[in-house]
Amino acid sequence: MAFGQPKIEYKSNAQILKMREAGLVLAEALDAAEAAAQVGTTTAEIDAVFAAVLKRHGAQSNFKGYHGFPATICASVNHEVVHGIPGGYVLADGDVLKIDGGCIVEGWHSDSARTVIVGTADPADQRLSDVTQEAMWRGIAALAEARFVGQIGDAIDDFVSAQEGEPLGILEDYVGHGIGSEMHMAPDVLNYRTGHRGPRVKPGMCFAIEPMLVRGSIETHVLQDEWTVVTDDGARASQWEHTVAVHLGGIWVLSAHDGGEAGLAPFGVKPSPLQKL
Ligand code: MG
Ligand code: MG
Repeated sequence: MAFGQPKIEYKSNAQILKMREAGLVLAEALDAAEAAAQVGTTTAEIDAVFAAVLKRHGAQSNFKGYHGFPATICASVNHEVVHGIPGGYVLADGDVLKIDGGCIVEGWHSDSARTVIVGTADPADQRLSDVTQEAMWRGIAALAEARFVGQIGDAIDDFVSAQEGEPLGILEDYVGHGIGSEMHMAPDVLNYRTGHRGPRVKPGMCFAIEPMLVRGSIETHVLQDEWTVVTDDGARASQWEHTVAVHLGGIWVLSAHDGGEAGLAPFGVKPSPLQKL
């Protein structure tokens, strides 16, 4: 069909199992990158650590070369929200680093991000990261029961909006997405409540759920490098992301070592791993 909505890709169980392989390689690569994120390390060094894990597993990067992106991770520091390019920047005590990475195993993609606070955390930055991480898990937990994709954003928005203390903004210009044989696929997964319920949730759908929160205004702009997204007011930002599959038996967090068991437990949701035939 030449017109209309981009088509949603529904994965078979065998394809979801391939995406799980990509998710596990990615979880290991992010572990290594997180461990390398110390005071005095450059973001280029972290990128090299991440790339080495992909290489060891024979996995390809889905970031490197994506519309010309030059690295295997996005490394975004402090007021940089997403899409930062790893380079000579030397991490300092208290920096809020977002490491966003992905990989491909036999044509199937994974995509996941973590916020790492380098050295000693400012309590307000720690809260920002903690709320963003919990918002991600609440969005994933909502998917387990959701009839429509829009219920993910409803759950994230309701949780963030209910926070007391310094208000946190939910970015609207950047959102989660479908994932599978490509990294970015239909449908968009918004992190906020709208009047639109979105597509119906069906088995075979896979999503990258990735709330991005800021300690200030949600207005952003892109730097002259044509990649790095920064907040207009210089406020610090956090991003957390996992790749999640929906199948007949339930949901499975493909980019978490434990399939999402620990992250989902507080919400009474138990992930359902698929067995290899
Ligand atoms: Mg990502
Ligand atoms: Mg993503």
